[in-house]
Amino acid sequence: MIAGNRSINYLRISVTDRCNFRCRYCVPSTPFTVIAHEKIARYEEILRITRLACELGITKVRITGGEPFVRKGIFPFLENLCALEGLKDVSITTNGALLNRDKIQALIQMGIRRLNFSLDTLDPVKFERITGRDRFHQVWDSIVTAHSLGIFPIKINAVALRGFNDDEIETIAGLTLKYPFHIRFIEYMPMGDSDVEKKQQILTREIQEKIESALGPLTPMEKEDNDGPAKKFKLAKAKGVVGFITPISSHFCSECNRLRLTSRGTLRPCLLNNYEQDILNPLRNGASDRELQAIIESALTHKPLFHHLTDPKSKDIPISHMTSIGG
Ligand code: SAM
Ligand code: SF4
Repeated sequence: MIAGNRSINYLRISVTDRCNFRCRYCVPSTPFTVIAHEKIARYEEILRITRLACELGITKVRITGGEPFVRKGIFPFLENLCALEGLKDVSITTNGALLNRDKIQALIQMGIRRLNFSLDTLDPVKFERITGRDRFHQVWDSIVTAHSLGIFPIKINAVALRGFNDDEIETIAGLTLKYPFHIRFIEYMPMGDSDVEKKQQILTREIQEKIESALGPLTPMEKEDNDGPAKKFKLAKAKGVVGFITPISSHFCSECNRLRLTSRGTLRPCLLNNYEQDILNPLRNGASDRELQAIIESALTHKPLFHHLTDPKSKDIPISHMTSIGG
C-alpha cells in the first residue's frame, strides 16, 4: 500500500487500552475511563482486519497496548496471528511484568523472536515512582530470561525525563557494554493529559552529550530493516546498540511505514494526528472483505506528511493518551 511516496507494510495493533502499570508519562495519575469491553475489537475481528491488510501488502505486525499481556486469551490469539498468510514478522511491545520463562518459550515456539521492553530506570525505587508499581525485579528478570532464551534483538525503550531518570542516562546506555540490547531513548511526547511537564522533556542532543561525556564517542551505524525510526549508534567495544527516537527534535514522518489499529477498532494513520477511521462497526454491520479493504485504503489517504506536536497552537495535537491509541 502506498501513502504519498511512502510504502506502508507495517501494522501496529493495540489489543487493549488497559494496563497493569501507570507510567507517569503515559497515563494521568487521576482516574480515567477505559473503553467498555463490548467496544473493544474481539480477537477474531482483529484477525480478519489483519488478514485483509496483509492481502494489501502488510508484512509486519507489532502488538502493543496498553499492556498486551493483561488481555485474556492473548497467547492463542498470537498463535493465530503468526499463522496468517503473508505475515513475515510479528513482534510485541511490553512492560515485561507478566512474562516468565514458560511464556517467553511459548512466544518463541510461535515464531516470535523480537520483543521490545519498556524500562526507564535501573533503580527499583525510581521504577515504582515512574510506573506506580513495585515490579522492577520482575521486569528485569523477564528481559534477562528473554535474552538467555535467544530473543534477539531485545529492544529496551526508555523515555528520558528531567527529574526522573536524567541522572541514569549513562548507566542505562552502559547496559550495551555488557548485553547485546538495543537501548532506545525516546523523546517524551506530550499527549493526552499525562502529569509530566514540558520542562521535563529531554531532547536527543542532550541525551547523546551525556552518554558521550561519560562513556566515550557514539559511532553511527548503518540503518537496517527492522530499526524503525531509531537512529543507531555504538559505544566502543559495546555488544549492543544505543538508539535515539526523535519525534520532537527531528521528526521522521517522511520515512513512516506504519498504520495503526486501535483497540477500539479504528484505523489511525499517524500516532500524532487525531484522524481515525472506524473499521470495527462496518465489520460488525456485515461489510464484505472488499469493503473493509476499501476502508483500509481510504484511511491511508489521510496519512499526514508531518506532525504538529511542536506547535502548541495546532489542533492536531493528540488528545488521547498513549494507552488508548496504542504506543
Ligand atoms: N505497555 C507496553 C510498554 O510499556 O511497552 C506497550 C504500550 S506503551 C504505550 C509503548 C511505548 O510507548 C513504551 O515504550 C512507552 O515508553 C512509550 N510511551 C508511552 N507514553 C509516551 C510518551 N508520552 N512519550 C514517549 N513515549 C511514550
Ligand atoms: Fe502501561 Fe506501557 Fe503506558 Fe507504562 S507505557 S502505562 S506499561 S501502556
